[in-house]
Amino acid sequence: MKNLKLASQEVEHRTVVNASGVEIGRDFVVIAGPCSVESEAQILNTARAVRAAGADMLRGGAFKPRTSPYAFQGLGIQGLKILEKAKKETGLPIVTEVVDPRDVSWVAEFADVLQIGTRNMQNFSLLKEVGNSGRPVLLKRGMYSTLEEWLNCAEYILSEGNPDVILCERGIRTFETYTRNTLDLSAVPAIKELSHLPIIIDPTHSTGRISLIASMSMAAVAAGADGMIVEVHHKPQEALCDADQALTPDMFANMMKRLRPLKSFLNNLPSDSNAKMNSAQAR
Ligand code: PEP
Ligand code: MN
Repeated sequence: MKNLKLASQEVEHRTVVNASGVEIGRDFVVIAGPCSVESEAQILNTARAVRAAGADMLRGGAFKPRTSPYAFQGLGIQGLKILEKAKKETGLPIVTEVVDPRDVSWVAEFADVLQIGTRNMQNFSLLKEVGNSGRPVLLKRGMYSTLEEWLNCAEYILSEGNPDVILCERGIRTFETYTRNTLDLSAVPAIKELSHLPIIIDPTHSTGRISLIASMSMAAVAAGADGMIVEVHHKPQEALCDADQALTPDMFANMMKRLRPLKSFLNNLPSDSNAKMNSAQAR
């Protein structure tokens, strides 16, 4: 990809992003939590449960980019203070979305990782601002974007001097309606060919279906993803946002019991001797 300088695989290393002690790009990292921060009890309950089940980081949106202006927009600073409390208690670093360039500097004081949502992937002033935030950035793929467009957005952040970009495949729009989006799993090995940046997947927003989340997560582990971000709510039916797609803490714990052993099994397989040849050909 000719426009890329800093995001390209020609940079001869694999980036490992250190997010307050959690390394993304080494082992399989699991980020879990509700779609949005709703109350202190909700976040603390969910944070304790996901930590007990083996999550590495806590997610939760305080600013929600909603399709409808009348839908719940998030608790803002109050939500960030709740996340801060949960971090203090559980030790889990926080991943939270920022939607407005004017909010980046103060949201960065609460966030260990700043999330850029699918709808803002090409919001270039926001990308420049998070590029100067001093925080790692989780850059979701735009739902209508090609890999090249996505990597160019990573380039915006990198070129501001921020090397800590984590890519997140969260599903793209296709003609299929059974799933909310289509999880483009081929993006995982494709990004590994094209870039040194770590890539995680979001099985929640891509499928929109609780019943498909565990299978797609296992498939992502097998495809070589560096982690996942998944929605978990202590009472999904009462969630103010994305109620149909959140796992219960029990479902999450069951999935984790299968995921970690799968990763260990894969780590012990002989390495793919075709990989180097294939990726040289891809470029
Ligand atoms: C989210 O993670 O809650 C979210 C809004 O994701 P996306 O930007 O992928 O829709
Ligand atoms: Mn959501």
